[in-house]
Amino acid sequence: AGGRPVPSRVDSWNKRAGAGPAAGAAAGGAAGAGGGAQGAAKGAGVKKSEYMGPDGDLVANLERDVLDRSPGIRWTDIAGLKEAKRVLEEATVLPMIMPEFFTGIRRPVKGVMLFGPPGTGKTMLAKAVATECGCTFFNVSSATLASKYRGESERMVRCLFEMARCYSPSIIFIDEIDSLCTQRGAEGEHEASRRVKSELLVQIDGCHSSEGGERQHVVVLAATNFPWDIDEALRRRLEKRIYIPLPQREEQLELLHINLKGIDIEPNVNFDVVAGKLGGYSGDDITNICRDAAMNGMRRKIAGKTPAEIREMSKDDMKEPITMEDFIQAINKINPSVAQKDVTRHEEWLKVYGSI
Ligand code: ADP
Repeated sequence: AGGRPVPSRVDSWNKRAGAGPAAGAAAGGAAGAGGGAQGAAKGAGVKKSEYMGPDGDLVANLERDVLDRSPGIRWTDIAGLKEAKRVLEEATVLPMIMPEFFTGIRRPVKGVMLFGPPGTGKTMLAKAVATECGCTFFNVSSATLASKYRGESERMVRCLFEMARCYSPSIIFIDEIDSLCTQRGAEGEHEASRRVKSELLVQIDGCHSSEGGERQHVVVLAATNFPWDIDEALRRRLEKRIYIPLPQREEQLELLHINLKGIDIEPNVNFDVVAGKLGGYSGDDITNICRDAAMNGMRRKIAGKTPAEIREMSKDDMKEPITMEDFIQAINKINPSVAQKDVTRHEEWLKVYGSI
């Protein structure tokens, strides 16, 4: 264990890991990880105390960086994406809340990939899954993993899955998974990144082993804007591949309503007309447009005033309903962040590898 000081939070985690059903799940998961997982099985299951000791610092860092106990997003906060919500519910939420029905041919999928252009709600969906099934949410960005945990990413991946089993039921959400598991560098690929990838595959396999009667309630959700970059072995494990497209008319309207909840709007604003101008914009773009339109009123109110005069203004003085013109100005100012050729590429990938 190297005699390193171990923070108290880690102690309590170690206690959880060493006692009760969660510990069984942790050991069972690693032990069931199949041929390539033997090393992991020994490290995690048999030599638990040695394994936990040196990783005490890492557990504390992971708790701080990736553990999100209450992401707080609900299905209703997300505009549209009905089919994606249905598939996610069937693949992740239901197996967690009624595991007895999801056995044999109905076994839960090992992992789910959300793919599509940036800013379309992939992260929100993952958070909503965690909220809806009341499980622990580990939010891992591959970029953080690559930079912050450089040199110990492999250990970090192992430790992350151990923690997830301990806190089971859990969702491990890996954002930008392409940057971790790209197949581009197949030849010149760094040895370290190859090791991280194979550790990830071993751990995903381990999550769903039910050997010894222990069911693992850890689901891997991965998001990417570049699904075509994902290595084949990982793609096979992310059995459900759900396309999260740009919002269409119904979703555009819903996004306007979600974003402008509680904001004063001029009665003559026609949302159908506003939504009609939002083709090609992502959900994130539409949020930015709403923010900008909402700011326009305030900008009008303070135009020409000195800082001292502005300071004198009350909240009511600042009140100015959003007008149609505010929306038009915001839309003219903000360009769509996604290129049509990227959308086409996603749609083509969907035809070959997608689930919906
Ligand atoms: P992604 O993970 O696909 O890049 P996010 O889930 O992080 O996108 O969404 C970014 C922001 O865009 C959210 O914080 C939200 O404001 C807005 N947004 C995108 N899609 C939706 C949606 N379907 N419903 C509500 N808000 C959305």
